[in-house]
Amino acid sequence: MTRYIFCTGGVVSSVGKGVVAASIGRILKARGLKVAIMKLDPYLNVDPGTMNPFQHGEVFVTDDGAETDLDLGHYERFIDESLTRDCNVTAGQIYAEIIAKERRGDFLGATIQVIPHVTNEIKSRIVRVGEESKADVVIVEVGGTVGDIEGLPFIEALRQLRMDVGRRHAMYVHVTWLPQIGATGELKTKPTQHSVAELRGTGIRPHVIVARSDMPVERDLLDKIALFCDVDKQAVIGLETTKYLYEVPLMLEDAGLGDYIVKRLRLKEAKKPDLNDWRKMVDRMKRVKAPIRIAIVGKYVALKDAYMSVKEALYSAAVAAGRDIDIEWIYSGDLEAGKDWDKLAGVHGIVVPGGFGYRGIEGKIMAARYARENKIPYLGLCLGMQVMCIEFARNVLTLEDANSSEFETPSEHYVIDLMPDQRQIRDLGGTMRLGVYPCALDEHTKAAESYQTSRVLERHRHRFEFNNTYRQKFIEAGMQFSGLSPDKRLVEIAEVDDHPFMVGSQFHPEFTSRPNKPNPLFEGFINAAVEHEHSGAPIKLLSVASSGHGNGSHGD
Ligand code: GLN
Repeated sequence: MTRYIFCTGGVVSSVGKGVVAASIGRILKARGLKVAIMKLDPYLNVDPGTMNPFQHGEVFVTDDGAETDLDLGHYERFIDESLTRDCNVTAGQIYAEIIAKERRGDFLGATIQVIPHVTNEIKSRIVRVGEESKADVVIVEVGGTVGDIEGLPFIEALRQLRMDVGRRHAMYVHVTWLPQIGATGELKTKPTQHSVAELRGTGIRPHVIVARSDMPVERDLLDKIALFCDVDKQAVIGLETTKYLYEVPLMLEDAGLGDYIVKRLRLKEAKKPDLNDWRKMVDRMKRVKAPIRIAIVGKYVALKDAYMSVKEALYSAAVAAGRDIDIEWIYSGDLEAGKDWDKLAGVHGIVVPGGFGYRGIEGKIMAARYARENKIPYLGLCLGMQVMCIEFARNVLTLEDANSSEFETPSEHYVIDLMPDQRQIRDLGGTMRLGVYPCALDEHTKAAESYQTSRVLERHRHRFEFNNTYRQKFIEAGMQFSGLSPDKRLVEIAEVDDHPFMVGSQFHPEFTSRPNKPNPLFEGFINAAVEHEHSGAPIKLLSVASSGHGNGSHGD
């Protein structure tokens, strides 16, 4: 029998509703329950794959190749389960499905309406996740805040679904924000009251309120919320902002939320919670020594959410090495303009993450050259691997105009080129090489040393690849292709021979990294960065560093 927990948000967005949903997943899993989590996004895009990261943050990729909301990344990291494409539903998918059915004539004679057609479609997607995952509990988070026009059909579907599955088998958790008034420092509950009133207006009475705040929340304030919002006192939980994201499950557990949910949903199969390993992990996070300094050189650094999984993977790998992490966020366009080279000079490792389009590419190539020439550990993720190959071609093989055909700049040497299977594709949505593919590792390479195995499964999201015409030339000049697809057709990992750690992967290792099991490539990279720090190697700046390069204006 599957039970459901529906998470809505009020007052403002970005208060960590996704982390709360994920944390509830963790405290239930700690009771031996099987948990699934899904996100309902009310926007009309079919998926976030074609959205600008500035709009949406990172696009997270699942094993089965869905391009999803970054909250799925939180879910996977907190509950340590791989989710599927069914776990992210958007209004765009719902409408696309209904319109396809209508055109087929499935609804012949009927007028298609939000209620019941849209709401039924939403409900069937939620129930399907319950059935397919065979979970004891499915946690369903709705994007946005209560009161958003486009969220209404989703809220209505959740209202109905509690009736469908039985009132005792579903509950509502509402996450709000307590603002602090400057002059007195007082926390205010009024916006929470208003948002609960708004939710009740849709026919939903929350069973739990998680009140987020930057300050400790006193018991009397929580009791006041309970009184005004008609919620059990023990079900109003104050959740103060913490430096340690992974502490949230422990905070919720210690506040009694796990037991309350078990009681409310009559989860008789729940065992005594065992969060020992999780507690040990959080303790380790709190005990880390001085930070290791890592640069992320990218195009979307102004919005750190755009690199959420990269940031988390670096952090977990640093913690495993007993270190905190200090990330220097460097906009690659600034390197082109001769700026921020001092920031780059102070780091122990450089990451060039994934991305699309030409803007900022020349700056990333300069960063790769800087890392190679100064023997600073470098990790290239997807585009970061392609950039590493372009740099190597230009400066080691002296193919001066080497480039990727993605950037539509004339060149004799497209060392990165469109994959043959991609040539006929015209649509941009969901058509990249997506999801998990195997990669065979070559012995005695940095990649194999890091992974300690000969075959890995990693997640992909790309259209371009290393151009095999150049493979032999690169090998002769000192680059190894240490990871290949099992048929040897696709380069999956490249690494520079004469370098402590300069590794690029065509896949995205950040998506499989978990807080208590960092991805091995990130561990290999961080260990190399720690060694680099200990070596105290002198820092050289590139001659090109201050001269400026590239126009920074081509494409996005
Ligand atoms: N733009 C590159 C490609 O499509 C890299 C993609 C990425 O970094 N995710 O191949």
